[in-house]
Amino acid sequence: MSDWRRYTEISRIAYFSMEIGLTTEIPTYSGGLGVLAGDTIKSAADLKLPLVAVTLLSRKGYFKQTFSAEGWQQESDVDWKPEELLELLPSKALVNIENRDVKVQAWMYRVKSPTGGDLPVLFLDTDIPGNLPEDRQITDHLYGGGRDYRLKQEVVLGIGGARLLQILGFQVRKYHMNEGHASLLTLELLNHHRRPVEDTWDERASWNVAQVQEKCVFTTHTPVEAGHDRFTYDMVESIMGEVIPLDLLKELGGKTELNMTMLALNLSYYVNGVAKKHGEVSQALFPGFEIHAITNGIHPFTWASPYIMTLYDKYLPGWANEPELLVRVDIIPDQELHDAHAGAKAYLFQYIEEITGVRLDPDILTIGFARRATAYKRANMIFTDKERLLEIGGGKLQLVFAGKAHPHDNYGKKMIQEIRQQADYFGDKLKIVYLPNYNMDVASRLIPGVDLWLNNPLRPLEASGTSGMKAALNGVPNFSVLDGWWIEGHIEGVTGWSIGPPSTETTTNVNHSDEDVKDLYKKLEETIIPLYYKDRAGWIKLIKNAIGKNAYYFNTHVMMRRYVTEAYLR
Ligand SMILES: *Cc1c(COP(=O)(O)O)cnc(C)c1O
Repeated sequence: MSDWRRYTEISRIAYFSMEIGLTTEIPTYSGGLGVLAGDTIKSAADLKLPLVAVTLLSRKGYFKQTFSAEGWQQESDVDWKPEELLELLPSKALVNIENRDVKVQAWMYRVKSPTGGDLPVLFLDTDIPGNLPEDRQITDHLYGGGRDYRLKQEVVLGIGGARLLQILGFQVRKYHMNEGHASLLTLELLNHHRRPVEDTWDERASWNVAQVQEKCVFTTHTPVEAGHDRFTYDMVESIMGEVIPLDLLKELGGKTELNMTMLALNLSYYVNGVAKKHGEVSQALFPGFEIHAITNGIHPFTWASPYIMTLYDKYLPGWANEPELLVRVDIIPDQELHDAHAGAKAYLFQYIEEITGVRLDPDILTIGFARRATAYKRANMIFTDKERLLEIGGGKLQLVFAGKAHPHDNYGKKMIQEIRQQADYFGDKLKIVYLPNYNMDVASRLIPGVDLWLNNPLRPLEASGTSGMKAALNGVPNFSVLDGWWIEGHIEGVTGWSIGPPSTETTTNVNHSDEDVKDLYKKLEETIIPLYYKDRAGWIKLIKNAIGKNAYYFNTHVMMRRYVTEAYLR
């Protein structure tokens, strides 16, 4: 029997997230949100912060992506065995779903840092004998099924998670909701903190909203109204019954529908967006609430390629737990940085050849683009004018793409198919590769191995965008629309380049696609390609600036210190 009980000896921040990405072997994440959660936990462990994380087990993962002969995305379940990687904890909690008692158990993973920090992550699971077959499937598919499936998952995460922490004996000083999926935990806390009232007619006075607010921190990640999770009260009623009185729930979570963001906003003393711009956009979406901003980060040790890591260890020892040291990157000799990047590039190209059979040329400027394939990310934007692209990049560019579309996102799938078909049009003059099954492992090969990291989302929809930070950490300059973190990290021609006009809007009504495309081609042709091929010292200066002016700051160590001082201890 393990000594998990010692985790309950001190009071902790309970960090709730629908998805958490710690390693490729634990496929309980879909993209940026989950990877951010994993990086957050790892930095918390490095910094020895008292934290316990709670998420869903997702027994079948998100999905594994393959392609049909026509380039259409195919999805299959991910095969993994929780019992080989995680430890089952002895207690179970009950949650009420459709008037049934559903048992919830937790599997524990320990995140151990070389600093000695050590944190538990609990993966909630309903696949327990005694639960109905349909209830046993609630924690199978991350973001799978329909609305009712999602709500059941959120009941398990929020209510089941909070109950299980209590049953296991965890002492919780704050609850941190990473996105609105976990908001239902506030209802459990409301019930828990009820106070006796003298006058039985004044039922309302027994609900201690202020006390729950004092316990909760909420981070929103979604910059559009439509993206926020919501459920009809009919569905809420039939799945959850009445956890708190309906009129109180409507007051806290929205009159016409239960909006998980509203619920979290109303029950948290501290709320933040995930980049300065995203804070402003969220403030405009939710007037009446005070919305702060703490810019996302990435975990330095996880995302540095072995090649660059060797250099950091040699010249900047201690960098992994004190990434601020990267500010001194200029002491690394140019040639060694160049060679480290060449190593990462060769490693990527070998992988690409193994997976796709395509052999890329290590001397050619290689652009990387990988993220969730969804409309606003505009993965196919660079192909807007194919002739122009060929004229600019023929013989001088290679493009590597990756990314999954959500199984219900047909537009995203079409976008992928189109990109895969471009390869035929451009042939050997401009090689294009679409790597299958983007995950943490693919990301950690792909991002450090390209020369330039491209990002051209529709503004202001990129709340933060963390892959660009992974690029910077590996000395890969960003070429990106001014949105999310890049507004804070961008210095034109110094840390990378912008695409399109400066970002002023806080709504999605303005579309600068034409300007963005023109600027993309113009900068590639006039600035980036000439610099890459004709001014090696100038390019290495960019590599150094990406590290010394971006990576030293945009990491989860800096981010977590801000959460501690600005959110948790407030
Ligand atoms: C970092 C990462 C993301 C997030 O990328 P964005 O730039 O935020 O879109 C998504 N998926 C994986 C596998 C990642 O490693």
